[in-house]
Amino acid sequence: MTEYEAVIGLEIHAHLRTLSKIFCGCSTAFGAPPNTHVCPVCLGFPGALPVVNRTAVDDGVRAALALGCGINEISIFARKNYFYPDLPKGYQISQYERPLASRGLVEFDGPAGSRRVGITRVHLEEDAGKSLHEGFSDSDRKTYVDFNRSGVPLIEIVTEPDLRSAADAAAFFSHLRQILVWLDVNDGNMEEGSLRCDANVSVRRVGETALGTKTEVKNLNSFRFLQRALEYEIGRQIDVVRGGGRVAQETRLWDTAEGVTVSMRSKEEAHDYRYFPEPDLPPVVVDEARIERIQSTMPELPDARRARVAAAYALPAYDAAQVTQSRALADYFEATVAAGAAAKAAANWMMGELARALKEAGVAIDRSPVDPGRLAGLIALIEKGTISGAIAKGVFDKMFSSDRSAAAIVEAEGLAQIDDEKEIAAQVAEVVSKNGDAVAQFRAGKASTLGFLVGQVMKATGGKANPKRVNELLKKALEAGPAGGAG
Ligand SMILES: [Zn+2]
Repeated sequence: MTEYEAVIGLEIHAHLRTLSKIFCGCSTAFGAPPNTHVCPVCLGFPGALPVVNRTAVDDGVRAALALGCGINEISIFARKNYFYPDLPKGYQISQYERPLASRGLVEFDGPAGSRRVGITRVHLEEDAGKSLHEGFSDSDRKTYVDFNRSGVPLIEIVTEPDLRSAADAAAFFSHLRQILVWLDVNDGNMEEGSLRCDANVSVRRVGETALGTKTEVKNLNSFRFLQRALEYEIGRQIDVVRGGGRVAQETRLWDTAEGVTVSMRSKEEAHDYRYFPEPDLPPVVVDEARIERIQSTMPELPDARRARVAAAYALPAYDAAQVTQSRALADYFEATVAAGAAAKAAANWMMGELARALKEAGVAIDRSPVDPGRLAGLIALIEKGTISGAIAKGVFDKMFSSDRSAAAIVEAEGLAQIDDEKEIAAQVAEVVSKNGDAVAQFRAGKASTLGFLVGQVMKATGGKANPKRVNELLKKALEAGPAGGAG
């Protein structure tokens, strides 16, 4: 049987996190009542003139630099003409022949190893409004439209057809999301549509270099949908080709409920859009000085930071990846270590109790009620032996719901570990005298009984005795023998 391979390229639309729209001063905030963030410019009134938002251009440059692109000193806005109810001007202002940036390269870890994907271009454009097909009593007869999203700035990132599997495509999209969110140019919120992906996919026999006919699967707004839609579409195309048929060039939609892609329309060609330069906007000029200014404010990127954190703090690769999943997490981790915590202990708390508590409370790491200094304080108490690990978990929960330090909680509630030899020896003696059977079993050679006796001492001290000390003293008492000096 002939083997086939998939050829995949992605087009990713990412909202830029500017406060105002790309060509007018309207707010970009999500979730406002419909048609309240609108003006003559973003409603497409005749004669209203667009003015480009400089921050949107800077954000686009920032993203393009992180993707290894060259920035074009001059780029041109163009009109992309098509009719749709959510596009009141009858055209979208985008970039066509001269985009903001081009020729980038991104490396990422796919499920089957390291991969490289070329970036064809990054261009600026405006988003359209939103058609509302449901949610109204007359939705069976009418479609409503909300123009709040009309004019929200976007970058479109177009990749080369360098991806070869659905899983790699999903991993790449996830990697790209991490970079955009890390740069703070996009909020990564795929449910609200701030980040969406179209996939171009074709199949060919392994070894062939010519491209097969591609289809475009539109509007995939999760990594899982992207992967499942591509898996289905690749299988469908292979079946068509194997059966002697030809794949039709078309735009398809992913039907989440049925788990299939369905034909939407025949694919448009660029000439269908009758692109021409936007006469109402001057060319965008991004000179060297501007690039350098933006470059100088770029953060250390995710891969570089993960590698540095792993090396500098001698963390296992898994831990380093976990504590650098976002810039906020990485900042929190490094601040905790800077406040005196051992790196491995800090990572353990972040991946364990802190992650759990934040998730339960629905709070992001940068708003954590327990700040790095207080977490380091808790870790210090454990390292010093002031409290045991088990007690520390309870102390942490109290820290999370108050602004008290670990030391203050331990002091106020008398939680400090009992390390005093006399005090522990007294408890040990009592447990030994009360548990004659277990003691006899231990002395008869049943070593596992020791654990039970340690547990009894810990219970008697409310979990506060230093377990190591309890162990030592118990062994000493038991090994003294029935007729020994202990009695
Ligand atoms: Zn407006």
